[in-house]
Amino acid sequence: MNNLDKLIKSYEKDMISTMSHIIPIKAVSPMSGGGGESKRADYLEKVLRSLGLSVKRYSYKDKYGVPRPNLVAVYGDKPRTIWIVPHMDTVSEGDPALWKTPPFKACVTNGKIYGRGSTDNLQALVSSIYALKALKKAGAELKYNFGLAIVADEEIGSVYGIQKLLKEHIFKRSDMFIVPDCGDANGNMIEVAEKGILWVKITVNGKQVHASTPDQGVNAHRYMLRFLLKVDELLHRKYTKTSNVFSPNISTFEMTKHEKNVDSINIIPGTEIAYIDCRVLPDYKLDDVLGDMKRVASGSDFSKVKISFEIVQREDPAPPTSANAEVVRLLKKAIKSKRGVKVKTVGIGGGTCAGFLRRIGLESAVWSTVNDIAHRPNEYLVIKDMVDDAKVFAELFV
Ligand SMILES: [Zn+2]
Repeated sequence: MNNLDKLIKSYEKDMISTMSHIIPIKAVSPMSGGGGESKRADYLEKVLRSLGLSVKRYSYKDKYGVPRPNLVAVYGDKPRTIWIVPHMDTVSEGDPALWKTPPFKACVTNGKIYGRGSTDNLQALVSSIYALKALKKAGAELKYNFGLAIVADEEIGSVYGIQKLLKEHIFKRSDMFIVPDCGDANGNMIEVAEKGILWVKITVNGKQVHASTPDQGVNAHRYMLRFLLKVDELLHRKYTKTSNVFSPNISTFEMTKHEKNVDSINIIPGTEIAYIDCRVLPDYKLDDVLGDMKRVASGSDFSKVKISFEIVQREDPAPPTSANAEVVRLLKKAIKSKRGVKVKTVGIGGGTCAGFLRRIGLESAVWSTVNDIAHRPNEYLVIKDMVDDAKVFAELFV
């Protein structure tokens, strides 16, 4: 074990203590009924300042008038910076009855810490802070500046987080980015590509009547079923390209939620609402997918109803970061050396901050060592992973 590793290992108790302070300070989006990140940012800013870093706070008022703070700190005076970009916001606890421990208390047991946000994304946040602390304390000669961009609002589209920060001219073309917001339990998966995401709400308006006189009405439910099946068939027939970076290796189109319609069996529904979740390979444009849905809706089969569309979420696919990109190579080397695992590069169907960076040509690797338990009740992190990931982060800079 080298000096840095020993230092980081010696911080284990402090890391647990920091985590125990952060988890109780809620940072849920006002869109989900929370109060935003301000209090958590206050605490984190204090932690960063106590390390002797100068911290810049970029805060943006959201549509509720709530400030949404992002924290940026840079250590070093080199021409290039490797940025680590964890997010400080979390989702809400969900159904509290499903939690075995209080969701906003850090419960330390059997080498794990339970609590909302522990794995998504506080583990990586704490790992990166202590990696930076160790590099500073050891007086290590850095090859790159250590940039820390702790962002807000990741869980609801990053509107007041990375999207705003990208307009502040903080990041340079030549910089590299690690978004530690996705991974697997072995820490051997680097995500280099994300599918585009399109969530569409579809409303079919017909005419509600008694079920015994269908000739007097227009059954919106029947037209919705027809529409969904037609669109489903068309999209799966047309968007067939595959990419072995992704698993599943193909674009996916799934009809998912539908809203409750009438209360009685003897009423023909006049309105029907359903949703489609599309995850589209970077080869395609979301506008084309949407255009296909609209074309089906305007066909003669649907002349008796009105079909309207609302985009619930849209993230256009970003160009993937090459598996040979410098940031990926550096990260692979650091992981191999500190975690002893061989790394594979993959694409995912979800979205992280990396999508926004890649869209403007900034090379970004997504990596961390986490179990697949984000957003679930009884979310936890493994303390050893928090410590070992900090070693990997530190290794990137020396
Ligand atoms: Zn996350």
